[in-house]
Amino acid sequence: MSQWPHVQFLTSASLPGQFPVDEGWEVAIAGRSNVGKSSAINSLLARKGLAKTSRTPGRTRLFNYFEISPGYRMVDLPGYGHAEVKASTRESWGPMGEALRQRQSLQALILVVDSRRGVAELDMALLEWAGLPDTAVHVLLSKSDKLSRSEAAQTLKAARGLLEGQASSQLFSSLKGDGLDEARGVLKRWIATGIRKERAPVA
Ligand code: GDP
Repeated sequence: MSQWPHVQFLTSASLPGQFPVDEGWEVAIAGRSNVGKSSAINSLLARKGLAKTSRTPGRTRLFNYFEISPGYRMVDLPGYGHAEVKASTRESWGPMGEALRQRQSLQALILVVDSRRGVAELDMALLEWAGLPDTAVHVLLSKSDKLSRSEAAQTLKAARGLLEGQASSQLFSSLKGDGLDEARGVLKRWIATGIRKERAPVA
């Protein structure tokens, strides 16, 4: 059962001027293309088809906003690192990424990482982009159903070691629902505590 009965699609932005008014609270969700991000959004928010899932990686360049509950939004960032493996998130998202980063309402980040790949250089670049340590970050190690029990345990241990002091992490499978309660719990806690980030005023 959904914790958030009023989840709905809000808007898609391809220009900074199209972002929603910078009020309230936002969590961004990011990940490499094809990592299972759309599936994760649909599972987390318990709404099938909210974020489109596709087998064709790297097609979505829009920043899609969903309302979780009034004043609380999730922004789905374009998948990164498909063709341009070396391109930084800064290059790949350009002014949109910079504008997003400046938003007062953006408080937290969910990073989706394929559990078979583990946390890679590009994911670490994304964490840097997010402005750690100011942003609360939780990493979903996706498609964990594809790992054996021991591989999953190893993956989680490695991720936790790498992310220590920067982000929490967990195993997650949209397909099987593994880790869903845990992930929703994190989101719920963030929303309940209304984590705020101290930012320097924008010049
Ligand atoms: P996105 O490009 O990151 O938004 O990824 P999608 O959610 O569209 O998923 C990409 C592919 O991975 C699709 O073929 C999904 O069916 C598959 N996928 C997504 N989540 C899972 C999962 O938890 N387990 C498995 N086995 N496959 C998944």
